[in-house]
Amino acid sequence: MEFVDLKAQYRALKVQIDERIQRVLDHGQYIMGPEVAELEEKLVAFTGAKHCITVASGTEALLVSLMAMGLKPGDEVITTPFTFAATAEMIVLLGGKPVFVDIEPDTCNIDANLIEAKISARTRAIMPVSLYGQCADMDEINAIAARHGLLVIEDAAQSFGATYKDRRSCNLSTFGCTSFFPSKPLGCYGDGGAIFTSDDALAQACREIRVHGQSARYTHTRVGVGGRMDTLQCAIVLAKLNRFDWELTTRKSIGDRYGALLRNVPGIRLLAVRSDRDCVWAQYTVFTTQRASVQAALHAAGIPTMVHYPKPIHHQPAYAQHGLPECCPQSQLAGELVISLPMSPDLTTTQQENVVHRLRATLGQVGSAKT
Ligand SMILES: *Cc1c(COP(=O)(O)O)cnc(C)c1O
Repeated sequence: MEFVDLKAQYRALKVQIDERIQRVLDHGQYIMGPEVAELEEKLVAFTGAKHCITVASGTEALLVSLMAMGLKPGDEVITTPFTFAATAEMIVLLGGKPVFVDIEPDTCNIDANLIEAKISARTRAIMPVSLYGQCADMDEINAIAARHGLLVIEDAAQSFGATYKDRRSCNLSTFGCTSFFPSKPLGCYGDGGAIFTSDDALAQACREIRVHGQSARYTHTRVGVGGRMDTLQCAIVLAKLNRFDWELTTRKSIGDRYGALLRNVPGIRLLAVRSDRDCVWAQYTVFTTQRASVQAALHAAGIPTMVHYPKPIHHQPAYAQHGLPECCPQSQLAGELVISLPMSPDLTTTQQENVVHRLRATLGQVGSAKT
């Protein structure tokens, strides 16, 4: 059994994907070919944001956004430590300082109530992460940012397709940054990502930074990067859009079924999903105090699991200088409890029931062994 079943997805979309790839091989425009603009137009229509700029990865989307807003050494960006390293990494790479704010223990997203106390004269932006596929409290965060003249960058690497108060993730703040890493909700077959914004000047800056800061060929108006997403990867995402709406619906029903099957299992706590938004379950993550035994038992039964993420960023050696060890107790606790179960739109009901059956059996045994 696969943690994310990309092979089943390819089998379902083989004709469209192969045809799209072949078309690129035939026209040969491997860099900035017609599929790049076509994908950007389709994603603009999908999200409702005014501009989409595809880039080389989700990490690159964060980097280019921060460069476009002009983040300077010493500038502070408020973010969450309970995320993949790339979130804080791009802030630090530009000489900025990540200021970590703890998470809500039930959603694992940044706790908006704790943000304002961390704003200083050096704060330039707030970077919430829409973790596991559920948007953070974007309205509250935008309101705080507006009061203090800050920008908001949604790290939407895990939430592409999610809705928040009837709007789409990536169209909720100054910037929305997503990733097309293969296992993300909308993935390509390599690295890719996209920036969304409705600000014309910031969009133009992103477009130039993506190609070495060029405003015209060989006119380098600013310092940029080689950050393009290649034509073949755009073509693959275009093919995958053919059933993306179905995949989103299916992800949500699989998430609902996991929830119904696990709701009353002793030793398992479910992730909370707020009533004004949905979750596209980039990972299906639950909390358990018996993680080590659950992982071992599922592994023995051929069921892969993962931990997203075992250690908050401010406890990582390269980032320890940016946060006090005890600054974010909920992030630390979540890192000890979370476990992600197999999740993909092609997960069958039988497979899902098997996962839950093994989980129940293990927790039952753990429970009786302890008494
Ligand atoms: C995957 C991920 C990224 C990085 O995306 P890449 O495409 O792998 O560079 C950034 N932030 C979060 C929260 C992610 O999950």
